[in-house]
Amino acid sequence: MALITGAGSGIGRAAAELFAAEGAAVAVVDLVTEAAEETVGKITAGGGRAVALAANVAVAEEVESAVARAVGELGRLDVVYNNAGVNSSGSVADATEDDWDRCFAVNAKGTFLCSRAAVPYLESAGGGAIVNQGSVAGLVAVPNFAAYCAAKGAVVALTRSMAIDLAARRIRVNAICPGTVFTPLMEPMLRARGDGDLEAGLAKTVVKYPIGRLGTPEEIARVALFLASDEASFMTGSIVTADGGMTAQ
Ligand code: NAD
Repeated sequence: MALITGAGSGIGRAAAELFAAEGAAVAVVDLVTEAAEETVGKITAGGGRAVALAANVAVAEEVESAVARAVGELGRLDVVYNNAGVNSSGSVADATEDDWDRCFAVNAKGTFLCSRAAVPYLESAGGGAIVNQGSVAGLVAVPNFAAYCAAKGAVVALTRSMAIDLAARRIRVNAICPGTVFTPLMEPMLRARGDGDLEAGLAKTVVKYPIGRLGTPEEIARVALFLASDEASFMTGSIVTADGGMTAQ
């Protein structure tokens, strides 16, 4: 069974659908119940197995109960994709304290809490894989994204720390650092970048990508599937960019 957080939208939903299509039972965890249920509806309509679980990844009790329910309903836990995340806006000169706290609570603490809750189940299954969702913003500076850059940098560092600490338990831990993918998360940022005009914001963003376009949720989901699978059996502690060449410049 694969547990995916933030699977009610964007990259997480694409991953839930892909993992299910590959035969995994999927625990679809999201803050928004209806969003999680919609993802489950898509999976079951295609003949897959999934369960919707409402939880805030930043709250330990909610995470622990979601992981336990996932195992209770779908059986042994093999994979965790810590994908849930939120954005921030503003440079260090104008970001709010709330923005900073929310960004760290969901992106960094959420990754910690879900992983901590999952480790005993992964271990008792004989090992498994954790995939963390970083971002290019955790590797290079993205203007006016101070809290998000810092929180994703924390996810990258946490991934390395988890990889070495969990290796003896046969749990591999890797992170994906996607470049810009058009999802509900990014739309406000893209609009703002174009001074309210989405097309202008997209055009300003695409020039940063040598490949000449933004990514799709499915392209990131395929990287997650690879890292979660036995195909990546010698990979742990890897920080994998999927960014159309953005950070290669
Ligand atoms: P999205 O907004 O489309 O989906 C995120 C989902 O996470 C939503 O369904 C939301 O309800 C859920 N969520 C938010 N806070 C939560 C919480 N506290 N607990 C549980 N669920 C919560 O976003 P997306 O673009 O698909 O992003 C997914 C991940 O990928 C995030 O970690 C994001 O930072 C990362 N990422 C996205 C991009 C991009 O360009 N879209 C680039 C790099 C990294």
